[in-house]
Amino acid sequence: MNADLQDYSHKRYNILTGEWVLVSPHRAKRPWQGQNEAVSNEVRPSYDASCYLCAGNTRINGEVNPKYEDVYIFTNDFAALQSDSPSFSVTDGLLVAQSEKGICKVVCFSPDHSKSLADMAPDEIQKVVFAWQREYEELGSNDLINYVQIFENKGAVMGCSNPHPHGQIWSQSTLPNEVDKKNTQQLNYYKENNSSLLGDYLKQELEKDERIIFQNDAFVVLIPFWAVWPFEAMIVPKKHQSNILSMDTEEALLYAEAISVLTKAYDKLFNTSFPYSSGIHQAPTNGEANDHWHWHMSFYPPLLRSATVKKFMVGYEMFGSPQRDITAEIATQRLRELL
Ligand SMILES: [Zn+2]
Repeated sequence: MNADLQDYSHKRYNILTGEWVLVSPHRAKRPWQGQNEAVSNEVRPSYDASCYLCAGNTRINGEVNPKYEDVYIFTNDFAALQSDSPSFSVTDGLLVAQSEKGICKVVCFSPDHSKSLADMAPDEIQKVVFAWQREYEELGSNDLINYVQIFENKGAVMGCSNPHPHGQIWSQSTLPNEVDKKNTQQLNYYKENNSSLLGDYLKQELEKDERIIFQNDAFVVLIPFWAVWPFEAMIVPKKHQSNILSMDTEEALLYAEAISVLTKAYDKLFNTSFPYSSGIHQAPTNGEANDHWHWHMSFYPPLLRSATVKKFMVGYEMFGSPQRDITAEIATQRLRELL
């Protein structure tokens, strides 16, 4: 390992977005204050009569959830994007706007209100993966939809309003900002090198073995070199696959295992149900080959030193660049010890 990277301030380049993160490892050596606050780990019931996602309950729009047994998907009752809104564009001097259409869905991972992905067995998570694949295929085949964003917002600290295990799928006509950056970076690399940017990165990471948390036959779980969040992690398929439909049944189970291993380690880290936003970035569904894409899932958890100390993206990070103290390598070691 390059010792300078553990001792001195530096910038690290994110090959997927073309942006930089400031790393200040010397600050992580400061004595920690208030690191051991008590956490109230509330025990939730398996069924909550007031939860609008539990099986058999009535949602705000009057619809009744079926008595589902594993995964249940419905169109978001308060969708941020709609498929039947009018098409228009505004160009008024420097004021520019465009209509945007889409379809938003909610994916309940389990009927059990008390669980999270970390509490579910890999074969249960595999059913969630199958549901993601079906939705990517179905939404992606809609002429209106050119991109499908699958994500989960977990924990009250992330602004998630309902603890029932669930994620969302927002699909839309154009590429959102983060996807657009990754599309450009991967396309440029693919044109120049005729190989996958993330595939080549993975080779280098596996050789160095400094940021690998876990791997099985099909997937690698690692902390990317350019991670911004203290315990940010990424799950990457070893094969060059542009989207999640390329996974066969066995690979879907190995992917589920990778999600299980990571989320379990997260929960152990600060002895709490670990909050995060996670999402899958994959090829647009715009009818093109998109061979430059290598799909991956990222986890952005906000916790820094304990269940109650959260990293805030404020000050310099709002006006300059994101910044972190603990290095990706140290964070990897801490998570590895918990497997
Ligand atoms: Zn519930």
